[in-house]
Amino acid sequence: VVEAAAPHGLAPLNGSAPGVGVVSYTLGGGLGILARQFGYAADHVRSLDVVTGDGTLRHVTADSDPELFQGLLGGGATLGVVTELEIGLVPVARLYGGAIAFDGRTTDPAALLRGYEQWTRNLPEELTSSLCALLYPDIPQLPPLLRGRYLISVRVAFTGTRAEGERLVAPLRALAPAVSDTLREMPYTESHTIHSDPDFPHAYYGDSVLLSGLDVDAAGELLALTGPDADSMHVVQINHLGGALARPAKNAVPHRGAGWLVRVLSPLDGTDVATVRELHARAFGRVAGQRLGRSLNFAFGGADRPEGLYDAKTRKRLAGLKVAYDPANLFRRSYGVGAS
Ligand SMILES: Cc1cc2nc3c(=O)[nH]c(=O)nc-3n(C[C@H](O)[C@H](O)[C@H](O)COP(=O)(O)OP(=O)(O)OC[C@H]3O[C@@H](n4cnc5c(N)ncnc54)[C@H](O)[C@@H]3O)c2cc1C
Repeated sequence: VVEAAAPHGLAPLNGSAPGVGVVSYTLGGGLGILARQFGYAADHVRSLDVVTGDGTLRHVTADSDPELFQGLLGGGATLGVVTELEIGLVPVARLYGGAIAFDGRTTDPAALLRGYEQWTRNLPEELTSSLCALLYPDIPQLPPLLRGRYLISVRVAFTGTRAEGERLVAPLRALAPAVSDTLREMPYTESHTIHSDPDFPHAYYGDSVLLSGLDVDAAGELLALTGPDADSMHVVQINHLGGALARPAKNAVPHRGAGWLVRVLSPLDGTDVATVRELHARAFGRVAGQRLGRSLNFAFGGADRPEGLYDAKTRKRLAGLKVAYDPANLFRRSYGVGAS
């Protein structure tokens, strides 16, 4: 969609990795790289064609069937198979963005996190960012810049001018000497390079918490638990939310008041799930004080645990839709809104 929209000076509200399926990403909400400016991808859907669990093909819009329309968007893949989505695009052809990486061994990760959180306090909605802490394995397949290093990166996407972008990121650049800095003006078609997510399938367990605010001391403890001293590898991503994400929309994407999303991803190469879950419980426990819930799109392997995915009102609405449109519970990955 990114490639098809670009010649028209338009962009979809895609996430960090181009390989992720459009439909499932959007049904789970869809937290994109321009999220603070434009909200969730689900907020921009105009219609869905869906074969619901009762075997009926339906063309669903906000007018034709408001309840089903709203429940499908944010409700995840629980009610049927979506065969077509009509989505609104945004007039974005270029941006100023990239990532700036610091060495988490020579600069205190907690201090970098504190600096990052302070930096986010006065940002315009046109700037969306996240922090990532990642210990790269010491393997010859990696370039020397990454090999064995513990990097704390801040990823930025800003739709304003390059000059304004340079001005806004200056305090970030002043936090510590950078290991690498890819911030630049780029066409939107290069926006996947901001995160440079792996483009191959890989096995890991992941979970997330949506927080009303970020207690940087508590989040610093989470970083310490999951950093280079941990028994296995973990990737931590901390997304700055707010802006358009906090505005109400007629769909089932929950926890809109969240100011932050904290994610921990743990590869399962040689580590058993029980050990990873135990570490996650301790790490997420550190930031539980401001917890609103969990994010459906980032409950990798954890969607069997519906706790926190929806607030009570949304869960009730979704359970009603489940009974009406998938009475036999054909779609059983139902995040606690149907019988499992
Ligand atoms: C590298 C990577 C980066 C990511 N970045 C982001 C991000 O920036 N923002 C974000 O919000 N999320 C992100 N995600 C999460 C992603 O949105 C979810 O994992 C999403 O569910 C992936 O969808 P998929 O179709 O690729 O996966 P699948 O595992 O194939 O599908 C997920 C679920 O959706 C169902 N499904 C798939 N297609 C349909 C359909 N047409 N109709 C009904 N149900 C369907 C499947 O049956 C399955 O239950 C990322 C994931 C990865 C792996």
